[in-house]
Amino acid sequence: MGNITTVFRFGAHYLGRYWTRLTMGLILGVLFGLANASFVWAAKTLADRFEPAAPKVVSTPAEPERETAAPGVRQVLNGLQERLDGWIDPWLPRVDVPLDWRRIVGALLFLPALMLLRSLLDYGSGYCLGWVSERVINDLRLDVMRKFSVLSLDFFNRSTSGDLLTRINSDTAKLHNCLKNGAANLVKESVTIVGLVGMLLWLNWQLTLFALVFLPVCVVPLAILGRKARRAAKASVKAEVQQSSQLVELINGIRVIKAYCLEGQQVERYRQLARQLVRQGMKGVQAREMVNPAIEVVSMLGVGALIVYIFKTQTSIGEFMGFLYGMGAMFVAVKRLAKVHVQFQQAGVGVERLQEIMRHEPTVKEATAPKPLARFQREIRFDHVSFAYVPDRPVIRDFHFTIPRGMKVGVAGPSGSGKSTLVNLLFRFYDPTQGGISIDGTNLREVSFQDLRRLMALVSQEIVVFDQTVAENIALGKTDATRAEIEAAAREAHAHEFITQLPQGYDTRLGERGVSLSQGQRQRISIARAFVRNAPILVLDEATASLDSAAEAEVQRAIDHLAENRTVISVAHRLSTLANCDHILVLVQGRIVEQGGFEELLRRGGVFAAMAARQGLSATSSPTLQGQPVS
Ligand code: ATP
Repeated sequence: MGNITTVFRFGAHYLGRYWTRLTMGLILGVLFGLANASFVWAAKTLADRFEPAAPKVVSTPAEPERETAAPGVRQVLNGLQERLDGWIDPWLPRVDVPLDWRRIVGALLFLPALMLLRSLLDYGSGYCLGWVSERVINDLRLDVMRKFSVLSLDFFNRSTSGDLLTRINSDTAKLHNCLKNGAANLVKESVTIVGLVGMLLWLNWQLTLFALVFLPVCVVPLAILGRKARRAAKASVKAEVQQSSQLVELINGIRVIKAYCLEGQQVERYRQLARQLVRQGMKGVQAREMVNPAIEVVSMLGVGALIVYIFKTQTSIGEFMGFLYGMGAMFVAVKRLAKVHVQFQQAGVGVERLQEIMRHEPTVKEATAPKPLARFQREIRFDHVSFAYVPDRPVIRDFHFTIPRGMKVGVAGPSGSGKSTLVNLLFRFYDPTQGGISIDGTNLREVSFQDLRRLMALVSQEIVVFDQTVAENIALGKTDATRAEIEAAAREAHAHEFITQLPQGYDTRLGERGVSLSQGQRQRISIARAFVRNAPILVLDEATASLDSAAEAEVQRAIDHLAENRTVISVAHRLSTLANCDHILVLVQGRIVEQGGFEELLRRGGVFAAMAARQGLSATSSPTLQGQPVS
């Protein structure tokens, strides 16, 4: 029961939006349940007609208990039945009456008509609730996607791709299935049971109460199997997450996997996880499939006791038939409800995981009343900034530096010294733990993400090309870019030539991760994206690190061109790429240990010079400065 409320409480927010269809579906479901119950009356009515018509009596003295049980209701129901019998009598055959055309037609159509009504109600209810659940899941997936997009980078660093994929696909799919089939059955079968119990009470209330004693016995196996299903669902999700993560790893690392001939090992890892998934899946199947036999055995015990009771009390054949049909139908409904219970237990696991995501708040929050920052005019200031990803493990320590507009700043330092972290802080992917960063005197925390990031363009070693056309990929830098702007940006990025040689030029779809292009070509597309953005601050984070030397030269040319007349922050391992910088900061363990011009640092013989020497650079052999002159 707890899981049903959990699922509905979670879904209520989404279901409420479609309340008209939802109400229609529920009403049709209720009518379906009542139509189901009417079959008891139909069975009794048909069975009664195998006996000669009884003389009409106003009351039944042989059944004083029934009268006293609920005289008002019973009288109304008897009156209703008499009226219905009177109306239907000429249309149904009876043993002591000759067959005419009306009775033949009635006999042929009586049950099909009832069944047609029941089926239409079933279809209508299923359609409306299905319509609602399709939209609810769509809205929910959108919300999860929205949530993912606003969560901060630390969340993504902590999560695995498999986990996120499972949440947005599999967890929502379980809820979908539960709302589509489970909710419909929950309504239909509950009303069916209530309707059937009502009909059976009307037929013979003592017999019904006797039969109902067996109903609670069904709850015991149900509770046990429900818990089993829930445990299996939890374990299944864990295995599913691992399996999805491994799949993502395999796709991303396919080059390395092939290069090291790890295909067999990867398949083996996948197989082991798949085996776990099958094992847990089978536990879920066992729980689900054991529900029916358990309830059937319990229900047959009840039917056995009923048969004895019926014979002992010499119940009429009509009542007997009606009762038998009613009991059978009721246990079918109970079985379906039991399956719904198991389904809700399984969906409950997914809902808890979705709730977990929805409760998550981004650690980097946007200002509620942001200050406008339309232009970059004067300076970027790092004011005694310290930062730690993990408490007590500082990565940036007391970083204090001002970058005037137009300056090209290089950031160098050994691996792990905090260079990329500086970029992360500048983009406000993370907030400093101490100190602050400001642009033209406005703290980044007070600016909207939109305003802040519109001022900056990032070209990093992590080259991201989306499964869209070349033109669309470039236009990501500026959503309203015209084709002329896109082509101009591509020319500036030295990309126009190879783009025009692609099968459909700018309209060529690049495929996932731009697999049809070389690394250098992909990087030039991302530089064109930065060109079209035309942001005053350019951030280069090891932009040529993943390229071979031929591609690097081509890309470096594009970058030098892009850097002209902009404020540049360039993080680099390959120190030669910093030769054009006005000022270089050397970081060691998050602290500035040296700073100055390229030649000056080489001559100083400190950390920078030592790093440069390892790359074959010295004060005399440093590359000729290219691009913009130092301002
Ligand atoms: P490289 O030159 O190798 O790219 P870097 O100088 O850019 O290194 P950063 O990537 O800024 O260094 O990392 C600085 C330190 O912060 C490293 O010790 C790294 O292990 C740690 N670090 C980086 N990202 C995270 C993270 N998401 N969570 C925890 N620690 C992190």
